[in-house]
Amino acid sequence: MYRTHQHEIACCSPNPLHAAMALHLAVPVSVATPANYWRPVTAKAEKLVLGRIATGVPGAPEAGGMAISGGVITGIGSAADLEGLVGPGTEIITAADGVISPGLIEPHMHVWTTMLVEPWPDLSALANPTFDDVVAKVKALAAKTPDGQWVTGKQFDPSLYDGEPDLTRAILDQVAPDNPVFILNASMHFGYVNSKAFELANVPDDVTDPPGGSYGRVDGKLNGVLSESGAIVPFLGVVPQPSQQDAAATIIKILTDAAMSGVTSVREAATGAVIGTGEVALLHQLNGFKRLPVRVSTAQWSLVGADPWKEAGVTPFAGDGMVRADAWKIVTDGSNQGRSGYFEQPYLGEDTGGHANMSPAELRAVMTAGLDEGWQLMVHANGDAAVEFALEGYEATLAGRAPDDLRHRIEHCSFAFESNFARMAQLGVSPSFLMNHVYYWGEVFQQKILGPERADRLDMVASALKAGLRPSLHSDYNVTPIHPLLSAQTATTRVMRGNGEVLNADECVTVEQALMAITTDAAWQNHADDRGTLEVGKKADYAILSDNPWTADPHSWESITCSETRIDGEIAYQA
Ligand SMILES: [Zn+2]
Repeated sequence: MYRTHQHEIACCSPNPLHAAMALHLAVPVSVATPANYWRPVTAKAEKLVLGRIATGVPGAPEAGGMAISGGVITGIGSAADLEGLVGPGTEIITAADGVISPGLIEPHMHVWTTMLVEPWPDLSALANPTFDDVVAKVKALAAKTPDGQWVTGKQFDPSLYDGEPDLTRAILDQVAPDNPVFILNASMHFGYVNSKAFELANVPDDVTDPPGGSYGRVDGKLNGVLSESGAIVPFLGVVPQPSQQDAAATIIKILTDAAMSGVTSVREAATGAVIGTGEVALLHQLNGFKRLPVRVSTAQWSLVGADPWKEAGVTPFAGDGMVRADAWKIVTDGSNQGRSGYFEQPYLGEDTGGHANMSPAELRAVMTAGLDEGWQLMVHANGDAAVEFALEGYEATLAGRAPDDLRHRIEHCSFAFESNFARMAQLGVSPSFLMNHVYYWGEVFQQKILGPERADRLDMVASALKAGLRPSLHSDYNVTPIHPLLSAQTATTRVMRGNGEVLNADECVTVEQALMAITTDAAWQNHADDRGTLEVGKKADYAILSDNPWTADPHSWESITCSETRIDGEIAYQA
């Protein structure tokens, strides 16, 4: 089972992996933009792809052939239309099975934090139907781990169990008395530790809460629950780190997982949060060994600071066609399911609606730091008060600046009001929705977290479109699976997995709108205007899918599979 949210962890804390990887990068990797080069226009295509093509272009949705030269589409239409582009050197590629679709765009996922926790045991509700199962699994893990060594786990999600129980220090001490324990919440906004872990991280009972985090307490004693990055980061420095080889292999695996869902471009949404600025160089280095399975656009973690990014040569749009630095990431609140999202009204059964991670002045300062460098801003805002907070930040910091085409974003924008969307349209700010919130947690929001009335306002994609915005849909992987067609299915149907019911049918969007949000509009938000549709002049980035989502029943999109992807017309992934 999955849930939001994981940006909060880490950042620029001392981290052994950081140092190890810095050493590993013996060969400096240039992240400068290469000079454009001229390519002669040839009359004959290098490649001709024949098959059922879904172009994604309204008004010309289908084609039978596509000519490609220099990685770019030079002709698209019927096979007969393209005959004149075929010469003796043209490679003919026939895609007999499946439908050729534009490569899908994942505008917000996490490569690095996913890499860090990848080997950790799964404590999700999907794998552990009851809370007792979770406790039993931790006990079993401790039993087979030598004394003194760490027991770790990921994806624990109390919101999906009755009573929303925490893995407290007392419970963890009981089941793992001889091992330090660190468990990460599925949202990555909370951690759970025992007494041995507190000792190793040097966190005493009388510790004061750090900036950007807090320690849960009972009767003045730490209860083992860590909230937000400030409290979690000290433990990430002492838990086991992957070797360089394992880290590299895991990153390739994560990017391949994206390609398996028909994705050809992703935005990494918290770059620098695990090992610092070296993450960008490492992506370039990996791509240098062997082309990555997807194009990666990076969003620089703002807590690293503007100067370290500049010193590392990571500036707006630096990079190349495969790895490019594009955005500046800011996180204003926590996870709604974890009740750390920032709401105007209290959570059900509580007297608080959460709080922002920073003051308005601090938000304006970090936004200004990004804008001054020329970055596109990606501002995480989950609760309705956080969306308002982010908008006020945009209004204050964009005022007086020359209009730009940076396409600033609000990430998740999970609970908004219609009036928010009108203001976003005025500001040129667009939302990217974690659409699987509806699928996985819609029922939980109705029944446990917010009540049915507020739950209806979850992921208001139709309202955003009505306001003239170009929303995108994302997975926030590994919070939910990378599966853009499932996100689009949920935007179209708003069916909740728990009870099969529809959450606020007024916010359902059309098939075309949903698919644009994982192709053209997601590409637009990622500053990837050369992708998202199959038409002349665009990159030949495509996926071969088992069915055509533009014509298939949207309830079936979840089961559409991908057998191949291509980037610049070259194979990037094959099943
Ligand atoms: Zn995220």
